[in-house]
Amino acid sequence: MPNRGGWVCLLVLLLAGCTTGPRDKAARLADWEREDKLTLAPAPIAPVPPPAIPPAPPQPAISAATNQPLETWVPLARWCKANGLSAPCPLSATPTPSYALSTANGVFVLRAGSLVAHWDGLEVRMAFAPQIMDGQPYVHTLDLRKTIQPLVWGTAMSFLRTNLTIVIDPGHGGEDSGARSVLGYRYEKEFTLDWARRLSLLLAGKGWRVLLTRTNDLEMSLPNRIAFAEAHKAGVFLSLHFNSSAPNDQQAGLETYCLTPAGMPSTVTRGYGDDLGLAFPNNAFDPQNLQLALRVHRALLQVNGRHDRGVRRARFLGVLRGQHCPAVLVEGGYLSNPQEARQIADPAYRQKLAEAVAQALVEKAELAGQGPTAVSPRAEIRAQGSAPRPTNLMRP
Ligand SMILES: [Zn+2]
Repeated sequence: MPNRGGWVCLLVLLLAGCTTGPRDKAARLADWEREDKLTLAPAPIAPVPPPAIPPAPPQPAISAATNQPLETWVPLARWCKANGLSAPCPLSATPTPSYALSTANGVFVLRAGSLVAHWDGLEVRMAFAPQIMDGQPYVHTLDLRKTIQPLVWGTAMSFLRTNLTIVIDPGHGGEDSGARSVLGYRYEKEFTLDWARRLSLLLAGKGWRVLLTRTNDLEMSLPNRIAFAEAHKAGVFLSLHFNSSAPNDQQAGLETYCLTPAGMPSTVTRGYGDDLGLAFPNNAFDPQNLQLALRVHRALLQVNGRHDRGVRRARFLGVLRGQHCPAVLVEGGYLSNPQEARQIADPAYRQKLAEAVAQALVEKAELAGQGPTAVSPRAEIRAQGSAPRPTNLMRP
């Protein structure tokens, strides 16, 4: 009869068997917050007067050449022992060796030679594929510090104890329509705004201070979205988007992004420079970003179903790099996929997406030991235009 560790391994093996397989790497996404938008965007429109938001300075790129680890590849068993964890549990030897790390906060499954790992069944992309050397698994030290450690420690969401101000960023707006629905002439900018309004109502009802970067169909530059969050001292920044792979109408699923930690290659580059030697202000929140991304991603998957495209990291997402708080960008499904486009066009589905995000945030804040009302009873929804309305949130 297996001992406790054996049961955990068996459970993990069952979970892992349902979630393996390469993802569609060749898919092209038409909808991205590209770096060039920082410079090519039209003159910014001040989103919320007052307070006046000064022009955003260019986001500095800080050299990350210092503090480099001396040891690149670390034996996983040694790292587990040093961190008070039981030895990695072998799950399978073929097609590639895989291992499970059982912790008090969850189970991390990794595979030799693969960037795809899983945290409690949820797909997480590693920066460097684990290797087998001398018959035992080795993991890159940056993945240990930036991917695995924040999860197994499970303490990074403590930021929700002290600042329940959230800036919700409905992607695109104005001339920038974002992705077009395959079903007709409806655009991403409408759906993201509606999602944000619904989410804002839910969080405000829980005592959060909620601010939207835009509440109507106006274009707003990425630097101004960052400046907006900074001006309002956001505790969390959440950028909402929908995806497109047109003309491919098969691609489907959810992706959640956070900024790539310095020194690590990004999951996605889309042809933009991915200088591993750069660090940005938001890199100060690497652990919190990953925790937040996983939490929101898991909640959204429960709405969307089986299409897990993973928590990913990117360096070119201009709206994230300059944030001075935990920040993630969510791609809530594909407008180029007929089935998902139909879902996204349904207000009831968007309400479910909003409820999932709200649940993820509220639940964690309450678990952190301090309910929202104990921090700030004031619910404030600010942006240009009127406060969000509960019904008829979108144009027909
Ligand atoms: Zn978008």
